[in-house]
Amino acid sequence: MSHTKLFIPGPTEVRSDVLQAQIAPMIGHRSSDCDALIASVESKIKQVFMTDNRVYILAASGSGLQEAAIRNGVREGRRVANFVNGAFSQRWHDVSVGCGKQAVKFDVPWGQPVRPADVEAALASGDWDAITVVHNETSTGVASPVGEISALLHARYPDTLLFVDAVSSIGGDWIPADEWRLDICLTSSQKALALPPGLAFAAVSDRVLARAKEVTGRGWYFDFLVLEKYLVKNTTPATPAISLLRAADLQLDFILAEGVAARVERHRRLAAMTQQWALAHGFGLFAADGHRSQTVTCVENTPGIDYAALSKFLKSRGLAISNGYGDLKGKTFRIAHMGDVTEADMQEVLGTMSEFVRD
Ligand SMILES: *Cc1c(COP(=O)(O)O)cnc(C)c1O
Repeated sequence: MSHTKLFIPGPTEVRSDVLQAQIAPMIGHRSSDCDALIASVESKIKQVFMTDNRVYILAASGSGLQEAAIRNGVREGRRVANFVNGAFSQRWHDVSVGCGKQAVKFDVPWGQPVRPADVEAALASGDWDAITVVHNETSTGVASPVGEISALLHARYPDTLLFVDAVSSIGGDWIPADEWRLDICLTSSQKALALPPGLAFAAVSDRVLARAKEVTGRGWYFDFLVLEKYLVKNTTPATPAISLLRAADLQLDFILAEGVAARVERHRRLAAMTQQWALAHGFGLFAADGHRSQTVTCVENTPGIDYAALSKFLKSRGLAISNGYGDLKGKTFRIAHMGDVTEADMQEVLGTMSEFVRD
């Protein structure tokens, strides 16, 4: 089968043995085998989130858990502050509005991180049930200092919950959910965890469950109180994605064997290689210095190369990168270095891009 190797910010490449793990025959979702499978994935994914809190595992994409966070965590008549510095943090706002919540958007220039000072200035105007941020803005290649934002919230606004989208960074950057006291930290399977799409994971604090009890209209599929009741028995209210759980169970073995710290360090090296390549070939970097993503590099197309031609050339060599997101199309392009990508893989894609640039 012809295979284009993906250096796009999701879906990412999945090991063939992890793909193979999905083809085992089905089991009943009320069986002890399924309970054991869920317990196994749960205990491993908690280590990746560095949390002792529960991690809800849903048959959904990451956006589903953004919706879950808002539905469970924001009361009627109360407000949520959405900090927007790119397309996925804008999605947090769209989800908040879509759920009928009082959502206030605070814009931060694209390419910049959300800084504690931005949060402090915004929250001065009254009471907030929660704030939303994206840890790693995949549209701009920016990582925001979520740990520092959390420290500020706990010092100044201790009743405001912190909801973090870490979709493109869990498994590729250092995000200790408990140490940073994140109330919700969520991710998707198809990014730095290097799994097929279809699963979403969220580490959820006790404070969120206490809040959820005061929220009406939580829905059902994403109701944390319902999910909790089942998870304590290693099961789910609705049918789980059994094949994907099998893939996750195996891939998490590989992730923990590599070690979370070593995995993060590998991503740091890949990011440095990619940034150096861009600068050495006359390109710019869209993200502010000191806040560049470890998992995706947003390259500024300073020399004005023909992105469509580059993409076609890469495709002829069995490789794929991504165009810029939305308005950044053509002005930037993105090279993802997330998941199980190795230095040799990066040399392959960057070397091929060098050939194109030289010609
Ligand atoms: C990909 C991505 C999303 C959307 O995730 P889905 O799994 O497609 O719903 C949200 N946030 C960030 C930061 C992303 O990179």
